[in-house]
Parts: sequence; C-alpha cells; structure tokens
Amino acid sequence: MARVYNFSAGPAVLPEEVLKEAAAEMLDYEGTGMSVMEMSHRSKAYEKIITEAEQDLRDLMNIPDNYKVLFLQGGASQQFAMIPMNLMKNKVADYIVTGQWAKKAFQEASKYGKANKIATSEDKTFSYIPDCSDLPISEDADYVYICENNTIYGTKFKTLPNTKGKTLVSDVSSCFLSEPVDVTKYGIIYGGVQKNIGPAGVVIVIIREDLITEDVLEGTPTMLQYKIHADNKSLYNTPPAYGIYICGKVFKWLKKQGGLAAMKEYNEKKAKILYDFLDESKLFKGTVAAEDRSLMNVPFVTGNEELDAKFVKEAKEAGFENLKGHRTVGGMRASIYNAMPIEGVEKLVEFMKKFEAENM
Ligand SMILES: *Cc1c(COP(=O)(O)O)cnc(C)c1O
Repeated sequence: MARVYNFSAGPAVLPEEVLKEAAAEMLDYEGTGMSVMEMSHRSKAYEKIITEAEQDLRDLMNIPDNYKVLFLQGGASQQFAMIPMNLMKNKVADYIVTGQWAKKAFQEASKYGKANKIATSEDKTFSYIPDCSDLPISEDADYVYICENNTIYGTKFKTLPNTKGKTLVSDVSSCFLSEPVDVTKYGIIYGGVQKNIGPAGVVIVIIREDLITEDVLEGTPTMLQYKIHADNKSLYNTPPAYGIYICGKVFKWLKKQGGLAAMKEYNEKKAKILYDFLDESKLFKGTVAAEDRSLMNVPFVTGNEELDAKFVKEAKEAGFENLKGHRTVGGMRASIYNAMPIEGVEKLVEFMKKFEAENM
C-alpha cells in the first residue's frame, strides 16, 4: 500500500488514523455485527453516533445553545437555494462576490428575490478580498452573504464584513474547522464537508434559532425547509448516515489534536513553509494579495503554461497528487487542509526547489 500526498481541493485528504479506524470497524461496528452503512438510522447505535458527532462539533466550535446544528444533503450548492428560500422574508439580500462559489450563490438567490452584488473582486480575477468596512448594505436586506474562504482563488476573509446589523451568512466549506470562529457573529455558517471534514454527501448547517421559521418562500419543498430538519434533529428522512459517522470520527481526531486553536497554529506553520518559498522563488509565484492569503488553498504559477503542465506531471510521478489548478484559473493549486501533514508541504517545497533548479 502506498499513500500519496494528496493536494486535492475536494474531495480531499482525511486523517489516516480516521480511515484506519473506519476500516477496522467496517464489518462489525462495536459488536453490532454490521457496518454503519448497513444499520438503521433509527437504531440505538446510530443515535449515539449522530448525537456524539453533534456534541463534539459543538465543543470544538463552542456553538451556543441558541444555534442548531443540521446534517443535510445536497452539498454546499443546495444551500445556494435553501438560504434564500428560508431567509428572504423581504426578498432582498446582499452578496459579496469574491469567487465562483459566491457568484453561483448570488445567481441562485436572484431567482428568489432581489440579490444585490454589493462588492466584488472580479476586476482582478478574484485575487483579493475587497474592503468590506463600509458597504452599501440595503436597508431591508434579509442577510449579507459571503464565501469566507475562496477555494478556487485562494483568498480568505481575515476580517468579517461590517454588515451594519444585518444577519451574516457564510459559506465556510473550505476553511471549516481550520481555526477558531466566533459563531455568534453569524446567522448561518455552513459548508460541504468534503473539503476539510469528511466524505462528500454531507453539508453541515449551523443556524441561529430565530432564523428557523415556517415563514418560507411559497413553494419551498419540505426537504428544503430548515425547520423540518431542525424539528427532526436531522433525521426527518434517512440522513447521509455513513458520512456523518466519518465526520464524527474527524471531530474526535480534531479534539485529540488540541482543538481548533491548535489546528490554527499548525495550519499557519504549514502554509508559511509554502508561502515563504513562493515569496523567494524565481520560478514560482503566488497569485493572490499577500494579506488575503488562505491557509487552506494555495494557488501558484510559473508564468508559463507549458512549464506548469510539466510541473504537474512530474510532481504526480513523484507522489504529489492533484496539484493542477482549477480549470477556470490554470496554473497550480496546493490544498493543504487540516489532514495534510506538515511533511507533505515540506517535501513539496523540496520538490519545487529541485524543479526550479532544473528548469531555470
Ligand atoms: C466546493 C465548494 C462548494 C460546492 O460544494 P458542493 O458540495 O459540491 O456543492 C461551495 N462552496 C465552496 C466554498 C466550495 O469550496
């Protein structure tokens, strides 16, 4: 068995310890004689799995009691519709568009009401985060929306926007649990788990209770109402049961690492190795404004497409997988989520140095 260093943006690397544990429990989960994949989501064994997963996430993020934690399906993309359907009481929402995912969310919301693009960084291919300290927030905005970490472009909000009292909704898919957050600053924090937490198929929504109401847009499907899922503790229908079980294991793994403060320290140390090299390299260059750099997704280029392709190919042969940039951006991107060990980044930088020496 040979594991590679997997720099995929998502689905992405998971802690080896978690995968091994899941493998050991595959045929017989804690004496039940069956796999978690085969058990009823209403069983005692499963009730324990989902209850513990929620509690561990609450502990990690210090989630206040007036927030619900929902384990849903449909990916982050389904939230692009679910959020306006549930929150647009005035049919007005303000969007800060800092990348493709925010743009998609903005376009989807436009189907349900008046979505205003109040700031964007599209003029410089989303390579920075705009100043959000004094934006023209709409008087009657139901919420202000951001994508906190831009997976494709490698930027991250280091300060949250000034929403002038309006509810903040944030897509944290690619920075979920990478550092501590103050949940009370948000109305909704949500993300698909396949970037930094677990297998694709689960989306976690952390939502303030007063935003969960029956007053949703007309025609909103039952399955897209937060209230249905909140009232039924994420068990209205069959949840993505196995995925939630793996997320639960990752939460326990994170607790063992020392929680989110420790993760932040580790992630900063890890990202610095790569950014420091990009800053000194004569061949490779980072593509985003230094002050907005993400700790999770690091895009870079050589400035020569052929050389980029050669790098990706040779890196793959050397055991560094999925370094090709997003199809809309080109170049390279190293996603260095929680489960990427520091050695992975050290070895990547060593390889980049060697490649630079051979190709300059
Ligand atoms: C990957 C990603 C999405 C889309 O996730 P799906 O689960 O595939 O719908 C949305 N937002 C961000 C920030 C992402 O990184």
